Amino acid sequence: MRFEPSACATDEPANTTPVTEENESFTENFPTDGENKNVEEQYADYSGAQVFSVKLKSSEHKRMFQQLEDRELIDVWLHKRSKKRSRAEFMVLRENMQEVLSLFYEADIQPKIVIPNMQRLIEKEKKAETLTNSTLRSGHGMNWNEYHRYSTIHSFLLHYANAYPDICTLKTIGKTVENRDIQMLKISSGGNENKTAIFIDGGMHAREWITPAAVTYIIKELVDNRAKYRSFVDDVDFHIVPLVNVDGYEYSHTRDRLWRKNRADLWGPCNGVDLNRNFGYKWGTSGSSFIGCSQIYRGSAGFSEPESKAIRDYIMESTANFQAYLSFHSYGQLILYPYGYANNELPSDADDLKRLGNAAASAVRKLSKTRYTVGNSAEVLYRSSGASDDWAKGEAGIKYSYVIELSDTGKYGFMLPERLIKPTAADALEIVKVVADEVMGLYEKKGLTMILEAKLNASKILEDDFRLVERRPRSESRGVASHWRPPPLSPGRSHPLVWPPGSCVVMRLA
Ligand SMILES: [Zn+2]
Repeated sequence: MRFEPSACATDEPANTTPVTEENESFTENFPTDGENKNVEEQYADYSGAQVFSVKLKSSEHKRMFQQLEDRELIDVWLHKRSKKRSRAEFMVLRENMQEVLSLFYEADIQPKIVIPNMQRLIEKEKKAETLTNSTLRSGHGMNWNEYHRYSTIHSFLLHYANAYPDICTLKTIGKTVENRDIQMLKISSGGNENKTAIFIDGGMHAREWITPAAVTYIIKELVDNRAKYRSFVDDVDFHIVPLVNVDGYEYSHTRDRLWRKNRADLWGPCNGVDLNRNFGYKWGTSGSSFIGCSQIYRGSAGFSEPESKAIRDYIMESTANFQAYLSFHSYGQLILYPYGYANNELPSDADDLKRLGNAAASAVRKLSKTRYTVGNSAEVLYRSSGASDDWAKGEAGIKYSYVIELSDTGKYGFMLPERLIKPTAADALEIVKVVADEVMGLYEKKGLTMILEAKLNASKILEDDFRLVERRPRSESRGVASHWRPPPLSPGRSHPLVWPPGSCVVMRLA
């Protein structure tokens, strides 16, 4: 199944022409300027498409479902597993409906309709967008009553960088395939550059519109109401990329509401790489596809895409002391921790990740009664290699790495109504608060002792920055040791201390 939009010129937002080889080339050659009015009229049509939910009770069921996915007869939106059975939500296009439903009935599975009329939902959302766009604009144009385009998100970031130059810095960390800027806003109240830092991103998957909305809301709150969050805003730096997949996001506004991948031109019938299968840690091992048309196409190599590369380069070149990496996705209400590339591959400090995840989930529940499930991503969902949180943990050595799947659990899925932006964003902020409170303690203020666990790939620490105080066996570090990533070595400062892998050292700030 292909999710390229049909491309017949029409004044009607809903056209019913199926994608054919004939009109495909026209689709591919169409200008990609998202702001172009003519482009907006060529909108992917989902007439007759429906979203279903099924329970898969046996391994036979699961195998059959996997085959449907492999054959691209269904677009899997959510696939969650519990102890005995798994639950999946997926969309079926009109042209595949008969085949898919008869295969389910043959297997004695009763799919339940979740979204009976996909196209109507898309049109309703577009109508709401036009209405609010014309009535609610003010200042930088951003609000959390509606979903916004990249240009508004850009003005919003620029506004904060200009209005609060003492704490906000805007930086372009890379360019997308279509040459748009990937922007990062750093919120820092200054102080030591080795201060604890958190990296946050959103909008890695284009159709997950709630994620850039939630992440920009987090920026607004941390800056506008920083007195309220003083307990951690003074002691933690935030490096925030609200929209990683800018091209895909624009494309989801102008051409295909359900676009997921980036806009890499693959020279074939299908475009786009799944950025969250393109990170170069255990890349391509399982739970990703080598087929270009697949929704989970991993790309030709780890970090083949400029968007994932931009995140990698920024984090690796930064001297920031990143202790948490939070990547916002939707949907499912899940707080997931590595590793996702294989079953039963847990980091040695998985208990810490689980504990903090649970703390965040209960804080959200107290705030809004929204229930988040916490767990290892391969366990709660399915295996997926090349995900950014696996890389952040396994390669960049960032202790608290999570993927957070925001609301909902399936009623609207990616089509979360605009009235739910604010409550969902408030839940996201609550998670950030709990994580920030935790990591603050991982780097004590000057003069206090910290205990670090040094791994072989993270064992070079500059004498200039730290003084070795004491060395302890690893067994004694349980409960207090924290994984810490040293600042990268810079030329001219060549006196690193090196420890054997797994040794634990007690450090004091120089
Ligand atoms: Zn996602």
